Amino acid sequence: MRLDRYLANAGVGTRLEVKKLIKKSFVFVNDAVVRQADFTVNLEKDIVRVDETVIHYQEFVYVMLNKPAGYLSAKEDRNDKTVMELIEGYEHRDLHIVGRLDKDTTGLLLLTDDGQFTHHVTSPKHLMAKRYRVTVDKDFPIDQLQKLESSIMLDGSPTLPGEASLIASRIILLTIYEGKHHQVKRMFERLGYDVVALHREAIGDLTLGDLKEGSFRELTNEELLRFKNV
Ligand code: URA
Repeated sequence: MRLDRYLANAGVGTRLEVKKLIKKSFVFVNDAVVRQADFTVNLEKDIVRVDETVIHYQEFVYVMLNKPAGYLSAKEDRNDKTVMELIEGYEHRDLHIVGRLDKDTTGLLLLTDDGQFTHHVTSPKHLMAKRYRVTVDKDFPIDQLQKLESSIMLDGSPTLPGEASLIASRIILLTIYEGKHHQVKRMFERLGYDVVALHREAIGDLTLGDLKEGSFRELTNEELLRFKNV
């Protein structure tokens, strides 16, 4: 990988800024000063320093956010706050949202710059489970659960079978394996219920744990490995 890209990717500065650092002899590879921005860094063994600081390279980043209501799942918006405003320190990375949540939906949202990971999570082919806690506007009879679990026609095609359980008279846990536009709300609408609160609790076996609303953190290596093997 080119040295300037390596440094920019690691958050040292913009491509222009890191080029200046390189020119001014601030950058070392294996203790030798390097003045060419296009110098090829061997990711396996080279040690890159800016002045005294060793710069570690991360090919991709994976972030989980406990999304509060009122934020759009978008990179930017003229009128509304976006989830990007809640995530600091990744301005130099091209993070995108892995499976959007509606503005009023809360809970687990993933962001990454790894396109393959996004595909793995969002493609219906991979049958990645997404579990939602759904609060509806009136009591939900237990015998309706079966309707949620079997197929409901949305956009002219049937939803994939899911799992549903009732945890209070108006609160349902629903696991689905795809992510059509407003899928959960529309599934309930079809049955005559309005969703008054929607919270994503889990994607695969990944949960928010004790991550507070509005907070974010990177996935651990262990979480990532488990996740990629689903
Ligand atoms: N289904 C919805 O209707 N909204 C969401 O935000 C997520 C799933």
